Amino acid sequence: MILAANLKCNHTRASFERYAKALDEGLAGGISREDEILVFPPASAFCAKVKNFTQGAQNFYPAAHGSFTGEVGGDMLAEFDIKTVLIGHSERRAILGESAELIREKFGFAAARGWRIVFCIGEDEAAFAQDRSEEFVAAQLEGIDLKYPSLVLAYEPVWAIGTGRSAQCQQIERMLNFLRAKSSAPLLYGGSVNVANIGGIAGIASCAGVLVGTASWDASKFLELIRVVSHRYTSLP
Ligand code: PEP
Repeated sequence: MILAANLKCNHTRASFERYAKALDEGLAGGISREDEILVFPPASAFCAKVKNFTQGAQNFYPAAHGSFTGEVGGDMLAEFDIKTVLIGHSERRAILGESAELIREKFGFAAARGWRIVFCIGEDEAAFAQDRSEEFVAAQLEGIDLKYPSLVLAYEPVWAIGTGRSAQCQQIERMLNFLRAKSSAPLLYGGSVNVANIGGIAGIASCAGVLVGTASWDASKFLELIRVVSHRYTSLP
């Protein structure tokens, strides 16, 4: 299972250091080879010493460096050895106005460097209500190299993100099967994942893991989620 934490615009450098320490301690002894923990902190909180999880970037500008005021370039990620990035998150599309063109540019930049790309797609409330989820998601995948070897696809319906209203397993399964027909990348689900629903979601055959926002912001809560589904814990007697 891939368990990914999107900390969004939460945590200072000091609080993320405590978060990283707590997570590292909770995962001490290593996690099972079948599991992987990814954490995306704010760029201002990147931590030089993380041991038992992979640190990723929520955002970057598709340039190594340059005159891009307020942005974080490839050189800045390299300083923290960050090679895992989120691209296409709905909050960046909707709130920060990231266009499909910029998203494709970011994808190309990351792919040229061989970075692991967690690419987020998901329909909005209107498309869901009109039963047009597949059409919506297919449009978001246009121009994206679905054969890129270090690709992870995260299906995150916009209406389920941060609302406490997760998609039903049937809808998740339907959309992951749709994505599976297009790509062999590991498929994640994201959208109000919590300790009560993670077991059912992780049990979907095509589901390789979850991308978690709110329920991951506290390291002990994220550890609880990890304990529900990780192979290391489930294989214990
Ligand atoms: C997210 O923002 O990627 C997300 C899944 O958030 P939440 O878990 O809060 O719905």
